[in-house]
Amino acid sequence: MKRFELAIRNGIVLTMDDEMRVFRPGSIGVSEGVIEYVGSEDVRGEVEIDASRCVVIPGLVNCHTHAAMTLFRNAVEDQPLEKWLKEYVWPVEERLKPDHVRVGTRAACAEMALAGITCFNDQYFYMDQVAEAAVEVGIRGVLCEGMIEGFDEEKGRKALKRGVSFAEKYDGWKGMIWTRLGPHAEYSCSLEFLRRVREEADRLGVGIHIHLAETKAPVEEFIKKHGKSPVKILDEMGFFKDDVLIAHAIYLDDEDLKILSERNVAVAYNPVSNMKLASGMARIAEMLKLGIRVGIGTDGPGSNNSLDLLQDIKIGTLLQKTRYMDPTVLPAKQALWMATRGGAEALNLSNLIGSIEVGKRADIVVIDTRKIRYIPVRDPYTAITYCSSGSDVKDVIVDGKIIVRDGELQTMDLQKIVEDLENAVQELFAG
Ligand SMILES: [Zn+2]
Repeated sequence: MKRFELAIRNGIVLTMDDEMRVFRPGSIGVSEGVIEYVGSEDVRGEVEIDASRCVVIPGLVNCHTHAAMTLFRNAVEDQPLEKWLKEYVWPVEERLKPDHVRVGTRAACAEMALAGITCFNDQYFYMDQVAEAAVEVGIRGVLCEGMIEGFDEEKGRKALKRGVSFAEKYDGWKGMIWTRLGPHAEYSCSLEFLRRVREEADRLGVGIHIHLAETKAPVEEFIKKHGKSPVKILDEMGFFKDDVLIAHAIYLDDEDLKILSERNVAVAYNPVSNMKLASGMARIAEMLKLGIRVGIGTDGPGSNNSLDLLQDIKIGTLLQKTRYMDPTVLPAKQALWMATRGGAEALNLSNLIGSIEVGKRADIVVIDTRKIRYIPVRDPYTAITYCSSGSDVKDVIVDGKIIVRDGELQTMDLQKIVEDLENAVQELFAG
């Protein structure tokens, strides 16, 4: 057999392809950033990773976060969302400088890379800094400038201009970055603003990433004001298409779910953030039955507080079982699918990433299941979903490049990233 640039040898390979093939043992051959072989034959490479007794999965996709909010980690805790945002987060965000965002995002990207996240969907400010930090660390980003219009036309106009200019400039950047428009939420943007966002997204050919129906009170207020739910009103405006991803999607009725399914809208499920802020429990199991594309997200480090999607998969499935009082709901295999292939589909990237198949870009994670907490690894899906944590990630490959090897970040100096974050936090909160 041909010698590949990179060979990952003798692991338990969960492909997450259409047939959900598992190779045990399995090997992968990668050249020029592309998967050229996956199967049970042994392969050789210029560079080789020994994956024996390890589980190999496609790179994890973090479907909703605000990476730079490492700056707000462990700052103000145990508060309701509205109070947390309005009294603590937004006033400090007024003082944010581009460099803070870059430093905060670098730390988040390093943390995500070390935990096996190879692609993240992010909404924040100074997104050019976010794009550059992601590329420096070596992970992919689907990025949008967060646009908080606040029912102020002038503010909205400026925000949209920034959002559009970022989306135009960075879409497809270095083959690692894709862009979207990011109106913040139904309670922080007017309908007129959202209509303009839809028009601009159509004009640019980019998607939309919005928080929707996250907490109860704003949805009730919206219904009081407009007579119908946010999903119904936005649907009447023609806002929903398959390029829209809504984060949270908790306060939805049956008709709302039907609309999301018919319009092929994607959902980001954020179980830890939803539990921590006591926002509620999304109807994920029903969404999946309706064929809605669902990915899983950490949400920002201010409301999680870690960026450890492997742990969140477990919490996400436990929360669904509890919601429906049914242990068969969201089984391990489906939960892991959501964090890999499902996330790629939710972001319309499954033609490139999300599974280990010949022809796909090589985004691959090797998890060290030789550790005691996994033994015995009988069903590799349950081993990963129920036993794992990001700290068990051994090797991470993005676009064919090894960015984490034996648990060590290869692309940047982690110590420097940590120091820069601590200095930035000190400066930001001193103001
Ligand atoms: Zn969020």
